[in-house]
Amino acid sequence: MTTAYTGRFAPSPTGPLHAGSLVAALASWLDARAHGGRWLVRIEDVDGPRCVPGADQIILGQLSDCGLLPDEPPQWQSRRDALYQSAQDRLLASGHAYPCSCSRKDIEQAITASGAERPRHGERVYPGTCRNGLAGSTARAWRFLAEGSNTVHWVDRRLGPQQQDVAREVGDFVLRRADAQWAYQLAVVVDDADQGVTDIVRGEDLADNTARQILLQRALGLPTPRYLHTPLVLAEDGQKLSKQTGAQALNTRHPLACLQAAGQVLGLPAGQLTAQDLPGWLSQAVEAWRGQTQAMRPGA
Ligand code: GLU
Repeated sequence: MTTAYTGRFAPSPTGPLHAGSLVAALASWLDARAHGGRWLVRIEDVDGPRCVPGADQIILGQLSDCGLLPDEPPQWQSRRDALYQSAQDRLLASGHAYPCSCSRKDIEQAITASGAERPRHGERVYPGTCRNGLAGSTARAWRFLAEGSNTVHWVDRRLGPQQQDVAREVGDFVLRRADAQWAYQLAVVVDDADQGVTDIVRGEDLADNTARQILLQRALGLPTPRYLHTPLVLAEDGQKLSKQTGAQALNTRHPLACLQAAGQVLGLPAGQLTAQDLPGWLSQAVEAWRGQTQAMRPGA
């Protein structure tokens, strides 16, 4: 067991927690407790337009109802602008980032002209128009130079060996958007390092961001944490449960029932989780998690 463990739950306050987000919250809390480590909560309100006023306090209340209390006061990304600016300055100075003047339309036109269409999740790979100098008169966004990077390999504690060729599959991705908002990729990497996060436990829908985050960590000279991506809760139609698809807010008036459902998604053995009180259930869950993650550790 390692004692130098810091984990975190990093919800975006786009609405209250739903059954799916509690799974990630519970897993990250259990993993921190099972390692005798610290557990932090960070409100990822960097994407201002998507945030819902008051959702942060609702989320903190829901976590507290479920007995998931952070070891330090929560942090808000919207108050950490200077850190992101300094990281971007370093990336620009080291040639890992560049300004970009392209509008969506410019990007569409350049892709069509090159004949190289590579849609990815409905998005297109940036064709590199401003890579060697601003094509237009003003910088709109800042991008990370992924072109020329090697395929990123990492081992997810649950999903096993993973790899992604970011340059080919994602392209030069945005660090700061045209509307001046910091991109999730930059903010999350800066904050995880600044807060000393050693272990990221989050939903599997975010696994696809990991390679980009590892490239950023390397470019900024930051350590790469361990990663564990948890199973997703699916809606009845088989789609991922999310706030965007109208997932219901979690009713934490019955916290034990919420936790039991989340524990089931995580594959915790219900037979070992017999306590009917919150602290009792949570401590049984830590034991069950410890046994389960020891079994799943790659190479164990
Ligand atoms: N803020 C992100 C979300 O709520 C999670 C970020 C992370 O855990 O890396 O989807």
